Amino acid sequence: MKILKFGGKSLSNGEGINKVVSIIADKVNQGEEIAIVVSARGNATDELEEILVAASKNADYKTLLEEFKKYQQDVYSSVDLSEEFAVLDKLFEGVSLIGDYSSKIKDQILSIGELLSAKLLTAILIEKGINARFADSRIFLKTDSKFGDAQPLEQISKKNVIQYFKENAGSVVNVVTGFIGSNNNNVTTTLGRNGSNYTASLLANYLNAKELQNYTHVDGIYTANPELVADAKKIDHLTFNEANELANFGATILHAKTIIPLLEKNIPLRILNTFNHENEGTLITATSKNAGIKTLSVLEDVALVNLEGRGLLGKTGVDARIFKVMGDNNISVSIISQGSSERGIGLVVAESQATKAMIELEKEFENDFYSKDVNKISVTDDVSVISIIGQDLSTFYKPYTALIKNKIVPILFNNTVTGKNVSLVVKKSELNKALNVIHGEIFGVSKKINIAVFGHGLVGGTLINQILESAVAIEKRKDIKLNVFAIANSKSVLLNKDGVTPNWINEIQTNGFSYTIDDIIAYANEHHLENLIAVDNTASATFVENYIPLVENGFDLISSNKVANTLSYGFYKQLRSVLAENQKSYLYETNVGAGLPLIDTIKLLHLSGENITKIKGVFSGTLSYLFNNFSAKDVPFSDILKEAIDNGYTEPDPREDLCGNDVGRKLLILARELDLQNEFEEIAIQNLIPEHLREGNAADFLTKLKEFDPIYDKIKNEQQANHVLRYIGELSGDLQNDKGILEVKLVSVPSDTALGGLKGSDSFFEIYTESYGDRPIVIQGAGAGSAVTARGVFGDILRLSDKG
Ligand code: ASP
Ligand code: MG
Repeated sequence: MKILKFGGKSLSNGEGINKVVSIIADKVNQGEEIAIVVSARGNATDELEEILVAASKNADYKTLLEEFKKYQQDVYSSVDLSEEFAVLDKLFEGVSLIGDYSSKIKDQILSIGELLSAKLLTAILIEKGINARFADSRIFLKTDSKFGDAQPLEQISKKNVIQYFKENAGSVVNVVTGFIGSNNNNVTTTLGRNGSNYTASLLANYLNAKELQNYTHVDGIYTANPELVADAKKIDHLTFNEANELANFGATILHAKTIIPLLEKNIPLRILNTFNHENEGTLITATSKNAGIKTLSVLEDVALVNLEGRGLLGKTGVDARIFKVMGDNNISVSIISQGSSERGIGLVVAESQATKAMIELEKEFENDFYSKDVNKISVTDDVSVISIIGQDLSTFYKPYTALIKNKIVPILFNNTVTGKNVSLVVKKSELNKALNVIHGEIFGVSKKINIAVFGHGLVGGTLINQILESAVAIEKRKDIKLNVFAIANSKSVLLNKDGVTPNWINEIQTNGFSYTIDDIIAYANEHHLENLIAVDNTASATFVENYIPLVENGFDLISSNKVANTLSYGFYKQLRSVLAENQKSYLYETNVGAGLPLIDTIKLLHLSGENITKIKGVFSGTLSYLFNNFSAKDVPFSDILKEAIDNGYTEPDPREDLCGNDVGRKLLILARELDLQNEFEEIAIQNLIPEHLREGNAADFLTKLKEFDPIYDKIKNEQQANHVLRYIGELSGDLQNDKGILEVKLVSVPSDTALGGLKGSDSFFEIYTESYGDRPIVIQGAGAGSAVTARGVFGDILRLSDKG
């Protein structure tokens, strides 16, 4: 036998009750042996309470009562509910006359909700040809006389239930009223709000049911409330122990007392959705394969009451006095936190009771105020409590760090000693973001990384497309969801919190609007976007002004733009200290050698204490191409230069490459990685452009390329035998000092060396260190181009996503 319990929402008019009838009919047709337990339909119990209060205050309760009856009768005019309605009429009239009521009367009134529900459902089932029987639980469920919260008397109830169900066993479907029972004098009692669940598990226990199916209006138990956390997942299987932890936080179905009868007999509980009953729901059993499941639950509308005082240190009895105040005033405390110094005690209470708690505490501690032992009792409104159920302290640092990284600092947290729960108090305004951050972290399910891309030219545009193309695969492989929520150029921005589409180029034209950086920051805040990354793919000298505000507002930074690292050393340091203060990172692997893993390698060597003594290399793909070819071929320099220009290997004005500043900047970036404090002006740069061609416009310059030839022919011919020309950057000197020697120069090297053997437009770096001696670490490969640079930026994004 299986017990099916249907809640009030399931039994509501229209779709609800129709679905319930079809679920029951299906089971009966499949020959399943079942018994039904029902709650009152819709919000009947709340409504009856409301009418009761109205009647007791002599207000016009009759209109409400008529509405109530109308809803309960609905379209089922042939079902006779007059007996129950008459009872209500009589009882309410009495209450209205006396202007008061007892809890005994209240139970009689509330019980009508379940009686109407069971009676109506039985009638509908019979009409459908199902052999159903209205089962008034007051006949067999005997309780004590604690009206409103009656305790079932186990022995007698069990005997009665078994007896009752024996009659017509197997062929009839009993439709049992939940929630209600009767005492030894046959006076109606109720089991406490949501008590139908309790009725159902008692019946399951007494009848040794195979399973209790609890039909609700949700698909099951989720890792978090899906209304607050879009990524919340349904939990397929939980243990009673785990479910029991949930019960502590008010999940009505899982109230401890309803679980105990099931535990006792090892009866599985399945939580199902009436409105989507094909779904398997959540199964709760004694043991479960997936150990250690975690869930998040939330208490909203709470306030933090704080009592502070120097004099509390070491004083005894303070806690007892606080709790006595709370107890005497019926204020329930959900979280307590006390520092080891005992200077302050924080209590979380319902928001509606906070003021009262404060006033009563002030009364109690009045004398302590005068003696200055207590100096402040305050209330922080608008806080929420997030409980991570199943979380112990051994891995708590993970969600905690994730919160801090997202600039959410919990007001306090505490853990239970026995159960595995950690609760955090956060500002209510941060609840949504905090929940999502914690959820993403502890479930490792698709941690969402929200990216704003600035600049969508060659590198930026390629990057966006690379991200969009691989997002699905990355989510599968790494459980990281890359979400590009902003794309901006110097004029406009396209915003979409759910991620831009492959059609972003058109969208930015039609839906883009002009912006300041504050707009993007505000958008991220408003939509509670977590794990923020700003990617600078511009070549802009001014965009870097936004770096610090971005970091201060929770963004990590990535740039292919070199400007931020080559401005003054003062700015370089300032940015790093803001990053440290805000626990943010800045990655710029593509600043030197594009996608080649150069900066990361140098960082690691340096961090691990390896003394780097020299760095030398060909830093520019363009200049690599020029001199590799010029050295290998017997042609004028201008021919090679022309070829490079025509193939788009140079900047539009090739003098930007030839002046050597770009190589100088890259060299400076590496030097600063080694904590050297050099400025750009201190780099000795050999400018490759003949002096008289350095000024003037680009078009003019392009007509005078031949003027390079005599100079470079001479340099080439004056070399020793078997030597080739290379344009290199070199960092040398005592690198343990504050400053190193930075040179960018054209050199002649033997062709049988690694540097001399360079081909194409490869970049090439030699890193000399103390332990490796004169055998440098060599990194070589394609060090330029938008595709490899975009890949490099992508690499930085993944590196940041993996963190924390
Ligand atoms: N109808 C009762 C209530 O609303 C019992 C139940 O629904 O479980 O509390
Ligand atoms: Mg690189």
